[in-house]
Amino acid sequence: MTAFTREHCLALDREDPLAPLREQFALPSGVIYLDGNSLGARPHAATARAAEVVAAEWGNGLIRSWNDAGWFDLPRRLGNKLAPLIGARDDEVVVTDTTSINLFKVLAAALRVQQQRDPARRVIVSESSNFPTDLYIAQGLADLLQRGYSLRLVDDPSELDAAIDADCAVLMLTHVNYKSGEMLDMTGLTELAHARGALTVWDLAHSAGAVPVDLHGAHADYAIGCTYKYLNGGPGSPAFVWVAPALRDAFWQPLSGWWGHAAPFAMSPRYRPTEGIGRFLCGTQPMTSLALVECGLDVFAQTSMAALREKSLRLTDLFIRLVEHRCGDHPLKLVTPRDHARRGSHVSFAHPDGYAVVAALIERGVIGDYREPSIARFGFTPLYTSFTEVWDAVEVLRDVLDTGVYREDRFAVRGQVT
Ligand SMILES: *Cc1c(COP(=O)(O)O)cnc(C)c1O
Repeated sequence: MTAFTREHCLALDREDPLAPLREQFALPSGVIYLDGNSLGARPHAATARAAEVVAAEWGNGLIRSWNDAGWFDLPRRLGNKLAPLIGARDDEVVVTDTTSINLFKVLAAALRVQQQRDPARRVIVSESSNFPTDLYIAQGLADLLQRGYSLRLVDDPSELDAAIDADCAVLMLTHVNYKSGEMLDMTGLTELAHARGALTVWDLAHSAGAVPVDLHGAHADYAIGCTYKYLNGGPGSPAFVWVAPALRDAFWQPLSGWWGHAAPFAMSPRYRPTEGIGRFLCGTQPMTSLALVECGLDVFAQTSMAALREKSLRLTDLFIRLVEHRCGDHPLKLVTPRDHARRGSHVSFAHPDGYAVVAALIERGVIGDYREPSIARFGFTPLYTSFTEVWDAVEVLRDVLDTGVYREDRFAVRGQVT
């Protein structure tokens, strides 16, 4: 890199066709927000929408809003808005429940399909570095089913080939690793799984709205993911679930609540799943929170995942290069792949005092986050992160490291959420 300056970054922002989108987000002054991979920023529109849901739809509409304000159809309507971002089609996605709960549903469905095809397959293959809830849900489901299911975890993606053998029922992976930011080859791994007779479950928590995803192109089987990360749906906003049409009607799912029933208001004593993705619904949804998902999705409708991906890679490239050039004397180790094809939209560096460094950055207004055992994690959201912010964030990081301020006692105190 030739001598890069803040002026270069200002010029990049002036030429950035996506820069105007930032105006649609409320970002506090004095903050450089590099944690949109954990909780996306608030679209301005969300405030008015929340007021409308609470005052008009709930306050005035009362029970009538289930029909009149479209509450009952909202999981499907939002699913259709989200679908293009993940390579899904109309009527294939619903926004509902949490990622953990949706994983339980699709994993149960996948195991049931395999039980019919080849009951000897009893192994769920995943990575030990997968997000813990994914592993916990798989363990809980395996225990519940009492059929001898077990989880086989690999420590590195290169071991997947050997792990997907004739015992493997399901390959359950997260597309972009929450810690390292490594992106897996969804198409290649799905092809490998299918060739060995396994089904695939893809967690898109760090992919939806962050990197282009083509579920149909990859011939994926099941997918789930969050809306409160890169999709900016709001804290704890409901998650999404997609199932390949060919598998969808093969089996329902064990959380067979009334919202997945073919005729919920017939009040029949017997469960009869509706056709299509609606059978992956369970029960009544949190409408205030669900409604805000739309404000986040509406911003994506103004651009394309290809344009966002291009900027995301430029932001992460810039961050990596600046950290290595300007903080090179410090023990920071890049854990995110340099190869674009293997990188998501966040960058992680290991540092022996990672927690304290992140805490000191946050005190200075640069918000990233920390993940055990030593990872400082920085998310780049091309909808609202600027090139100049990348420069400024690295300068604060350099100062925090050069001065050693992070060694002060107050940066060792941990909150309930890290
Ligand atoms: C963030 C994240 C989750 C979160 O699940 P919740 O049910 O929303 O708490 C699940 N899986 C992965 C891979 C994640 O990154």
